[in-house]
Amino acid sequence: MGHQGALGANTAGDSLPRSNGSSNGSSNGLNYRIRVSKRAKNINIHVSHWGDVEIVIPPSVDPRQVPEIVERRREWIVRTRQRFLDRQETMPLDVVQPLPEEIQLRSLPETWTVIYAPAPGTHLTATTRSPCQLHVHGPTENLESCQSLLRRWLNRKATYHFLPWLRQVSREIDLPYTSASVRQQKTRWASCSSKRTISLNAKLLFLPAPLVRYVFIHELCHTVHMNHSAQFWALVGKKEPDYERLDRELQKAWCYVPAWVERSRPSSAAQ
Ligand SMILES: [Zn+2]
Repeated sequence: MGHQGALGANTAGDSLPRSNGSSNGSSNGLNYRIRVSKRAKNINIHVSHWGDVEIVIPPSVDPRQVPEIVERRREWIVRTRQRFLDRQETMPLDVVQPLPEEIQLRSLPETWTVIYAPAPGTHLTATTRSPCQLHVHGPTENLESCQSLLRRWLNRKATYHFLPWLRQVSREIDLPYTSASVRQQKTRWASCSSKRTISLNAKLLFLPAPLVRYVFIHELCHTVHMNHSAQFWALVGKKEPDYERLDRELQKAWCYVPAWVERSRPSSAAQ
C-alpha cells in the first residue's frame, strides 16, 4: 500500500497520508479533527483506540459540510468511541497510563521502573540508576516533555538492541542489506527501500521477540522482492515456516504499544 515493502502497524484506514491541512471541529458536543487529504476518494471517519475522532475529506468536499456528515454518522461514532473507551478500562495499566511507572520491553525482555524526580529548572534528563531503573529528573510536571524524553530513550534502546540483532538475523538467513536505522513511524512496523535500506520502528521494543524477529525476516525478504507477490511469500515461508501465524499476530500487535508512546491509532469506517 503506497509505500513498497512497508509493514503496517495499524488496522484498516492507515494508508492515507498524514496531512494536506487539518483543523478542529465540534458538533453538538462531539469534538473531532478535520483533515483534507489529496489521496482520499471518499469521506472517511476514523476513531482512534484512544477515542479521538478524525474526519478525512478529499479536497473536493467543502469542510462546511462536515458537521452534517458527523450528525448523520453520530450514532456510529459514539458507539465506536465508547467501545474503545470501554476496552481501555480492561487494558493493563501500563498500556493506558499517560506516563509509565513501568515499561515492559517484551522483545528484550526487560521491565523498567520509571522514577520521576521533580526538580526546578527547564532541563529534563533520563538516567539509569540501577539495572532497569530509569530516573527522570527535572520539570516532570510537563507531561509532554516527559513523554518525548521517554520516546527518545526508546529510540536509543531500539537502536542499541535492534541493529546488531538485525545483522545477526540477516547473516542467519543469508539475506544482506545496505544499512538500517530506527525511527518511530506512525503506521508501520518497518520498511525496506529499493536501496535495501531497512527502517525499523522503535515501538517494536514492546512486542514479543518472535514477532520482532518475523518483522526482520519480512523486511530482509523485501531486499529480494520489493512487493508482496507469491514469490515474496514463498521466500518468507522458506526463511520462517510459521510466518502466517506471526503475520496475523502482528496485525493485532498495536495493543502492546502503550498510550504514552502512541496516542492516535486510527480505525476507520468508510462513509
Ligand atoms: Zn512487506
